[in-house]
Amino acid sequence: MTTGLQYIAQNAHDVIVGDKRILFHIPTTSLFDLDEMSGDILDLFKEKTNVTQSDMELHFKGRYAADQVKGVVEDFLDMEIIKGDALLRPAPPKIKIENYPLSTIILNVNTGCNLGCTYCYKEDLTTPVKGELMGFDVAKKSIDLLLREGKSRDRVNVVFFGGEPLSNMPLIRAAVDYAESRCQEEGKKVDFSLTTNATLLTEDIIDYLNDHKFGIAISMDGPKAIHDKNRKTIGGKGTYDVVSKKAKMLLERYTARPVGARVTLTAGVVDVVSIHNHLKYDLGFAEVGFAPVTSGDMTLYNLSNEELYDVFQNMKKLGEHYLSEALENRNNGFSNMHQMMTDLYEGTKKSLPCGAGIGLLAVDHEGDLNLCHRFTGSDIEKYGSVDTGIKKKELGAFLEGRADREGTGCKTCRIRNLCSGGCYHESYATYDDINMPTYHYCDLMRDWIDFGIGVYSKILHENPRYFEQHVSPRTLLNTGRTFNPTAMGENA
Ligand code: SF4
Ligand code: SF4
Repeated sequence: MTTGLQYIAQNAHDVIVGDKRILFHIPTTSLFDLDEMSGDILDLFKEKTNVTQSDMELHFKGRYAADQVKGVVEDFLDMEIIKGDALLRPAPPKIKIENYPLSTIILNVNTGCNLGCTYCYKEDLTTPVKGELMGFDVAKKSIDLLLREGKSRDRVNVVFFGGEPLSNMPLIRAAVDYAESRCQEEGKKVDFSLTTNATLLTEDIIDYLNDHKFGIAISMDGPKAIHDKNRKTIGGKGTYDVVSKKAKMLLERYTARPVGARVTLTAGVVDVVSIHNHLKYDLGFAEVGFAPVTSGDMTLYNLSNEELYDVFQNMKKLGEHYLSEALENRNNGFSNMHQMMTDLYEGTKKSLPCGAGIGLLAVDHEGDLNLCHRFTGSDIEKYGSVDTGIKKKELGAFLEGRADREGTGCKTCRIRNLCSGGCYHESYATYDDINMPTYHYCDLMRDWIDFGIGVYSKILHENPRYFEQHVSPRTLLNTGRTFNPTAMGENA
């Protein structure tokens, strides 16, 4: 330690939560309580560009035993939040993507939708009469591709998307039969899911979905006045009455899995708390997830910067409610918050923002392969087809480019392993460039994660069993100062 040690700011971030100080270890997405001594040592490294052995002796003499200081410094070195020249490890090699272990295939079963929601982002959306339906041949080949490329998976997912997926029920029924029999032959489990506007649900369809244990999300924007603003029939009439009636029928009848609501937040719609309360407590959805729109084609519907700020402030209010419920051992169903708690609990460490292109692909009605459901019908390059297979070289080049943070603001960003540059479709819609990180709300995202760290830490200290009971118990808890390299998950 004679030549000195230096702080690596990009690997550590500390947050005050009540009377505690929490260290967010960025490379592993792990949280550690900083006791007074560890905090003081961290501060010394933050203050001085180079800290020598004699600096430490001078600073801490009479306050902390030399052995204890040495122990903390060694932990910090292991965690790579400080470094010494002699101890500098080589930069990790660039990520090479050679395998595409598909776990999910999204089938765009109809480009047509029976509604005319004003803000709809779908690139290939048309009215029902003009809708292009996927044929069984394409669905069958898609499932074969999933099984071929997902050989290593014990469990695979088939997702039905549209337009409105329920407008092509014959294809859904045929694809489910085929997937179930093929998966049985291969000894795999298969899960099905769909997102629907609910208007075409009948008792018969609900019972069918129940029998096949579909994961179901309903697109619904909140109470009548908010929902009817944008979610309209093709003739321009609000759909709240029919959607809420169908949603209630589904929620009463459906027993296979919890049903979620997916809310799109657009210009003028920022009241996250009352939307959540209506969907969760008046209608009875198990979970409510919010998707703020900032980069749609129709700028009229995009949230302004001020509105986006309000959305995040209101998400924090709902997050406070999540916290008070979690302390009583209940999940309030705010799924954005619950996802963040899951990521922090599991030590999620993402090299890429989502599974698009690597764990999942979307098939359009013609059988072409798209990064995800949001790209079907776009002018972005297709990554193969169900006939010719995945264009692995091209897909690999794109994914490796996005995983390489060199020269981007993400390289040193403290939430780089959670955000990982953001949604490709947001990049496409905002910058017309899927390679560009989504820089337009980085500060708000960082602030949101800091808020989540506070919530996580309070739950962990006051009711840790919440995580065991409500979040998947996959990894160990990091409650102490000691670095535990086995407690992180790699979710590329
Ligand atoms: S997009 Fe912004 S918030 Fe996300 S990792 Fe990059 S710099 Fe950070
Ligand atoms: S690219 Fe965006 S929309 Fe597509 S799967 Fe990823 S996060 Fe979702």
